[in-house]
Amino acid sequence: MAISFYVHIPFCRKKCYYCDFNSYAGLEGLFQPYIEAMAREISYLAQFPEPEAGETLYFGGGTPSLLSPELIGRVIESIKENFGLLCDAEITLEANPGTVARSSLEALLSMGVNRLSLGAQSFHEDELALLGRIHNSEEIKKAFQEAREAGFSNVNLDFIYGIPFQSLEKWRITLEKALELAPEHLSLYALTLEEGTSLAQKVALGEIPRPDEDLAADMYCLAEEMLEKAGYEHYEISNWAKPGFACRHNLRYWLNLPYLGFGAGAHSFRWGMRWHNILEPREYIRILSSPEIRGFPSPVACEVETITLPVEMAETVILGLRLVKEGLSFEEFRRRFGRDFWEIYGPQAEELLELGLLERSERGIRLSPRGRLLGNEVFQRFI
Ligand code: SF4
Repeated sequence: MAISFYVHIPFCRKKCYYCDFNSYAGLEGLFQPYIEAMAREISYLAQFPEPEAGETLYFGGGTPSLLSPELIGRVIESIKENFGLLCDAEITLEANPGTVARSSLEALLSMGVNRLSLGAQSFHEDELALLGRIHNSEEIKKAFQEAREAGFSNVNLDFIYGIPFQSLEKWRITLEKALELAPEHLSLYALTLEEGTSLAQKVALGEIPRPDEDLAADMYCLAEEMLEKAGYEHYEISNWAKPGFACRHNLRYWLNLPYLGFGAGAHSFRWGMRWHNILEPREYIRILSSPEIRGFPSPVACEVETITLPVEMAETVILGLRLVKEGLSFEEFRRRFGRDFWEIYGPQAEELLELGLLERSERGIRLSPRGRLLGNEVFQRFI
């Protein structure tokens, strides 16, 4: 049985206005000690029984592309030495336009990174400025071309829709420009106002309008239409891929399979437990640099939660429903839990089918097109 690894790099050049991820600007001096601490965390977790080799490894953030390729390579080697990586493992690195150069991309590729995820977000300068991004639209194209020239044949572009002042037409232009680049994968996320962010404050003060949810739904429908025409498979609520390029790492999350997360704030699901690491990078380094480290499942773990069978079943259903075509497989459910889906969730599922929010798929059930717009309402019925 293989596992997935997530590596959190909590460093950014500047904090974007909408962002509430565990990321910090101005901590360049911590890059090296952070990776040394992470190498200790990796070897600590590998001492528990039956360490499994990785099928996927994902560097997320933050901005992993701020680190030198040598530091990224150090993490990959450490995981290989302690757990192993399958020879065809998918290794993804998130990068921001403006933080990559052809030489660093070539070095990353030679170290085994074989999938690049670029945080593009928009092709309009005013939208990039409103979001507080550090790059402009030319830098997106440049980063993409450099990735191709370096040899990356699997590139994702992330975009945000539902931005204040964004019209349907401007969103169409962003999508057209994205399609001109022909990435293998696209992730599209609706902007959410996260408490405590400077964007949320500006909205609260009335300086900029609140994102319009109805317009965002129209933008989502437009994306579905345009990307389908362009040959992309809509395989998960927010994700589209050319055939054969679905993100294997995220597919494993949606199948509710185990993963180990390393780094400040990283989440893990393993040994029937879920936990996340302490958030603050300095504290993370301090604990992992002490001469003796101890704790189960990890010296830096917080909020360790035992996953009961009902919770695991509900999560498996909710995550499976995110898969647009396949949905939740009844056979997989029975194989995993030894119980029939209808025996446990019959009444809710029947009602949601009648309401037109769920529909039958080849292998089980999935969200209907309307259900995809009202996903959270559907998911709540299974909790
Ligand atoms: S680059 Fe990403 S992680 Fe960093 S501040 Fe911006 S949105 Fe947040």
